[in-house]
Amino acid sequence: MISRRNFIMQGGLITTAFALPGALKAFARPFTAPPAFDVVIVGGSYAGLSAALALGRSLRNVLIIDSGLRCNSKAAQAHNFVTQDNQTPKAIADKAKADVLKYTTVSFQEDMVVQVHKKEQLFEVATQSGKVVLTKKLLFATGLKDIMPSTPGFAACWGVSILHCPYCHGYEVRHQRTGILGNGDLAFHYAQLVSNLTNKLTIFTNGKASFSADQLHLLQKNKIAVIESDIQAIDHKEGHMSGIRLTDGSVHALDALYARPAFEQHCKIPVDMGCELTPQGLLKVDPFQQTSVPGIYACGDNSAFRSIATAVATGSQAGSAINMALATTTFQLK
Ligand SMILES: Cc1cc2nc3c(=O)[nH]c(=O)nc-3n(C[C@H](O)[C@H](O)[C@H](O)COP(=O)(O)OP(=O)(O)OC[C@H]3O[C@@H](n4cnc5c(N)ncnc54)[C@H](O)[C@@H]3O)c2cc1C
Repeated sequence: MISRRNFIMQGGLITTAFALPGALKAFARPFTAPPAFDVVIVGGSYAGLSAALALGRSLRNVLIIDSGLRCNSKAAQAHNFVTQDNQTPKAIADKAKADVLKYTTVSFQEDMVVQVHKKEQLFEVATQSGKVVLTKKLLFATGLKDIMPSTPGFAACWGVSILHCPYCHGYEVRHQRTGILGNGDLAFHYAQLVSNLTNKLTIFTNGKASFSADQLHLLQKNKIAVIESDIQAIDHKEGHMSGIRLTDGSVHALDALYARPAFEQHCKIPVDMGCELTPQGLLKVDPFQQTSVPGIYACGDNSAFRSIATAVATGSQAGSAINMALATTTFQLK
């Protein structure tokens, strides 16, 4: 972390390397350094890049700062994003970045934002590598961090054969031996959805089941077994599971398992700055993607349904809304 003193000292560097996007790409193209960026986008994955596209096409001076830890990096392919179905997650992000960096007012920096302070009408953004920049608007496209349970094998299988979303990966494991790790309404929701993709379905509640009588009746009618024994481990080879091992000594052969581990905001700065969360732990945004703190916006997983298509849609919406806010201010000041 940058100390407050260093942070202030480095404020003097605003006109040096990092504040000069042109300096980062000085030989690639001419660039006039702004006293403050129009927008700093924290997080340069699908949501942040989508916002940057709308902003770059509006001639906004934009700096994207990204720490390179996309949540889906363990998945071999991404699905259900039209035009890019079956591409690797990296290929989609690389293509998005190439599209965005065609716009000369947009710069991309690999780094991590560690502190933000409000400074009169601007935000002062500090990074792990010690750079400091000023910006008029701030957009967090920082995603979520999944918290792996301690069950042996779970983390290794996550994104490979333990899946969070039937729309993203269900088709690839259709008709296979499939488990649902969960209980109550969440497991019932998964069961209804996944029963469309396979009839070899078992729910593992990892403790006493908490279904309503109606839910249990429907699960039985659909021939979905409910197993309450505690889970000991997931047997697997390089993330590809072969079965689920229970503390009662039994092993159930499985090809795939749906689970929704706990998550947290990947970046805590918006909350530290007073942005409100929803009861589900997402950043609260208005229809223009603005958080509860004026001038701070959010898009993508940190505030919306989890999919690449939604990240791109909310990013685009955030980019347009920020551009409109900037344009309105400038127009009124003339
Ligand atoms: C295993 C897995 C598989 C998935 N498969 C699919 C699929 O097939 N199809 C689909 O549509 N969706 C899929 N998803 C969901 C999809 O990946 C997400 O919805 C999408 O990545 C969200 O994009 P985002 O830009 O909001 O966040 P992310 O892609 O998570 O990117 C957030 C970025 O912000 C950066 N960041 C965070 N904090 C900071 C900071 N302080 N400073 C700088 N940078 C920071 C991170 O390093 C990261 O690069 C999958 C998710 C998972 C977990």
